[in-house]
Amino acid sequence: MADESGIRTRESIRELSSVAGETAVVTGASSGIGRAVAETFVADGADVVVCSRTRDDVESVAEELNGADVPGSALAVECDVTDRDSVAALAEATVEEFGGVDLLVNNAGGAGSGGPLHEVESDGWDGVVDVNLTGVYNVTTAFSDALREDGGAVVNTASMAGRYGVAGMGPYSAAKAGVSALTRTLAAEWAGDDVRVNAVEPGFVATPPVREQLGLEEVPEREGADREVGRPDEIADAIRFLASDAASFVTGQTIAPTGPPHTFEPPEV
Ligand code: NAD
Repeated sequence: MADESGIRTRESIRELSSVAGETAVVTGASSGIGRAVAETFVADGADVVVCSRTRDDVESVAEELNGADVPGSALAVECDVTDRDSVAALAEATVEEFGGVDLLVNNAGGAGSGGPLHEVESDGWDGVVDVNLTGVYNVTTAFSDALREDGGAVVNTASMAGRYGVAGMGPYSAAKAGVSALTRTLAAEWAGDDVRVNAVEPGFVATPPVREQLGLEEVPEREGADREVGRPDEIADAIRFLASDAASFVTGQTIAPTGPPHTFEPPEV
């Protein structure tokens, strides 16, 4: 932790902020933020279970990561977070392959089609809440024994929509606000088991659905914070911090990688 003079060493700080050697599960890892998290963790030296609904998608991501010159590894597991049998199979496959899990990133989600709440049909509500909120419950509880056995960290992907309650995004805003609340609840419940639980609350991030929504052809350069749109790898870096031991005294928090707060504006309904 420190050299002879008592000053912390560069190596010890690097080690604390790394997820090398950890086993991580990342849901929704075939695209966007989840894919960037998987890339970041594998590059850092973690073994990452990449999960998403479509086998071909996760297999191609895992293949690419395993073919790269990086210290970690990737295992593809097809899983729909709204389907409890599928989630149980994910937990089983993870424990069978790695003997346990240290880090869980609940990232699978999406905003759905949107519109004023009084026009949202009940199946539209159910679909958005199922994936964004109930999915977090499904996956977190499926891994609860494995996580609490040796301690670990959970990072949930909430959203600015959950903080503000965005017009035209009622089910999504409510589900993501629920994710932030669940983050605090679980942090309190699992503190004694040495499991930290935090969340990120991104603003606009240049992932495939948002690029399409905003008509954004390019992913913005990583230059300065005064931007309205962030990059998937910038959110992955915030998630890596929360997952790492650098955040050893941070739990129950939701941090907002959004650029300057005043630049966030809800989309027009
Ligand atoms: P994306 O569409 O690029 O990725 C979403 C991923 O989730 C994909 O891999 C998809 O296959 C997976 N997924 C969707 N439903 C699933 C299910 N039922 N089971 C398993 N996997 C499922 O989108 P993204 O923008 O990278 O979003 C990732 C997360 O970040 C989501 O929770 C989203 O709500 C949140 N978020 C995104 C933004 C943004 O601006 N992009 C902002 C705030 C929060």
